[in-house]
Amino acid sequence: MKHINVALFVVHKGCPHTCSFCNQRSITGFQRELTPGDVRAAAETALASLDGETAAGGEIAFFGGSFTMIERGYMISLLEAAYPYVKEGLFKGIRISTRPDGIDEGICSLLKEYGVTAIELGAQSLDNRVLALNERGHTAEQVEDACRMIASYGFETGLQMMTGLYGSRDEDSVETAEKIIALRPATVRIYPTVVLKGTKLFELMQSGEYEPAGIDETVSLCAKLIPMFENAGIKVIRVGLHSGGRVDGEAAGGAYHPALRELCEGRIYLDAALRELSGLPGGRYTLEVGKGHRSKMTGQKKINLITLRDKGYICEVAENEGIEKYEVRVRY
Ligand code: SF4
Repeated sequence: MKHINVALFVVHKGCPHTCSFCNQRSITGFQRELTPGDVRAAAETALASLDGETAAGGEIAFFGGSFTMIERGYMISLLEAAYPYVKEGLFKGIRISTRPDGIDEGICSLLKEYGVTAIELGAQSLDNRVLALNERGHTAEQVEDACRMIASYGFETGLQMMTGLYGSRDEDSVETAEKIIALRPATVRIYPTVVLKGTKLFELMQSGEYEPAGIDETVSLCAKLIPMFENAGIKVIRVGLHSGGRVDGEAAGGAYHPALRELCEGRIYLDAALRELSGLPGGRYTLEVGKGHRSKMTGQKKINLITLRDKGYICEVAENEGIEKYEVRVRY
């Protein structure tokens, strides 16, 4: 059995307004309205690539926009196209993403009927001041209520948070992460803010009222957030916007990097190594990390080893099966 996901984008459909950072068309690079035929074609293409195996571990996912707020008949037509693949056991379920204010009892029952198994909410922040400044049009309490309702219907919950929004400091993001952990979602996506042309954030940046966080600050912050979630048993399924679409041409500021997660994980290892080396005299050391984590300890273009060398530690990296993810042991 292979694990294969089908990701479909419902572009800027159903949104009651436009959030300060949003330019969905740039994010997806897909301008045409998704049709039920597109859903079937994508599922068939995925299945054909499996050479007769099933994708029973995978999902058909509707991202972008606010799925539960699109015109009801259109929403059902998309679900009707996807559901037969789940009923036949070819995919394990359907994942949708929506806004917290797009969740109520009626919609949960309907989604259940059509084989939806996981709901992701764009929470972005759990700070009402930050939500209002970024014109989200919902409150932190609505996120919490929606999470409780989603769980009560037995859906898997996913939460999406952003860092570096207008008016948001690092400590606000850490506090949002703590509140998200208390809500016990199964998955989290972290989207550091990327300022896209044509958005309110772009105007604020141009007028000098908003200075977006760059890559380095963002990497430092996410290197704290990722372990917070993982240590709480919450899977971090994405860090940073997907590259492609038209984001490359429309990103005007903020933290856009095609390998952002890799940079963050490298920083987690660097921070761990510095903690272990602190107090030790300069010299030659071996840094032991878990199996498969050597490149993260080394960092992109060996940046971690270079940083350590500049501090007087000449290090080489070795793997050791008995070592946990993000753990570093130091040997002379
Ligand atoms: S709710 Fe989502 S899709 Fe709608 S405007 Fe805001 S960020 Fe964009």
